[in-house]
Amino acid sequence: MKRIEMIVPCFNEGDVLELFYKEVTPVMQSLEGFDYSFIFVNDGSRDNTLEIIKSFAEKDSHVKYVSFSRNFGKESAMLAGLKNSSADFVGILDADLQHSPSLIPQMLKAVTEEGFDIAAAKRSDRKGENGLKSFLSSAFYKVANKMTEVEIDPGAQDFRIMKRKVVLSILSMAEHNRFTKGIFSFVGFNTKWFSHENRERAAGETKWSIIKLFKYALDGILGFSNAPLKLSFWSGALSFVFGVIYGLIFIICSLVKHESFISVNLIIALICAVGGLILICLGIIGEYLARIYTEVKNRPIYIIDETNIGE
Ligand code: UDP
Ligand code: MG
Repeated sequence: MKRIEMIVPCFNEGDVLELFYKEVTPVMQSLEGFDYSFIFVNDGSRDNTLEIIKSFAEKDSHVKYVSFSRNFGKESAMLAGLKNSSADFVGILDADLQHSPSLIPQMLKAVTEEGFDIAAAKRSDRKGENGLKSFLSSAFYKVANKMTEVEIDPGAQDFRIMKRKVVLSILSMAEHNRFTKGIFSFVGFNTKWFSHENRERAAGETKWSIIKLFKYALDGILGFSNAPLKLSFWSGALSFVFGVIYGLIFIICSLVKHESFISVNLIIALICAVGGLILICLGIIGEYLARIYTEVKNRPIYIIDETNIGE
């Protein structure tokens, strides 16, 4: 019998997990010819998420779990799920039921019968989402798609079902600052998209703070683009050429008019402009250096505290 594993990243999802389990289990049971498992990844929750997952695992052998020693973020949780998966077909699904479980049978059919390698969901709207978050994320995707080497659909979600070979290719990308949406797009493969309406969170609250989202956006752009480095070069070159031409014109005019060409205002303005530019460039280079530093240190991306996989 073929197997499918669904990875569910969970951070403080105690309020919603029972609902999730009740709604998704029948869908998984209805998949004919398939043996299913859940891989719950407890991402350092501070509520009763782990207890609930363990209570599922006690009564249901379909439930596997991995629990982190602290909160490492959804990207690390998804990676842990993928690394601990072994099935022919692997899916990723949020715990809050915003990803319609009813799509799972059609998505599985796409990868088993219709010849696709990936079945992925995208939302057709951003209903029920905070206005500021919608605005910032659409701005992010516009910038990211212009600057980076990968093309990311603004509606694309992490909700997907993949063949084993896709999982292996995702795992072959060893970077530490992981931006999975970029990695999904980078590895390519034949993808069938499923549009669905944005559902409200079944319970609990969103786990994304503005700071987490900002870091996520920065990982996305810096992880997949060298454009900021080029930007610093070109703005530096532009400012240099401007400075030389401006200086020459100023000196020539002063010589023609027989005036002194040393003006304090001009010097202050130039120092501010050039100094600011150098700092901006240093900042961008520093950001890349920081990333090289973490890659070179080769720290674990997550640390598993306990798991029932391989028992
Ligand atoms: N999540 C996680 N670690 C985090 C933040 C979120 O594992 O640090 C999980 C969360 O439990 C949920 C999924 O990622 O299953 C999506 O998070 P959320 O619903 O809060 O994001 P939103 O839908 O608001 O973008
Ligand atoms: Mg959500």
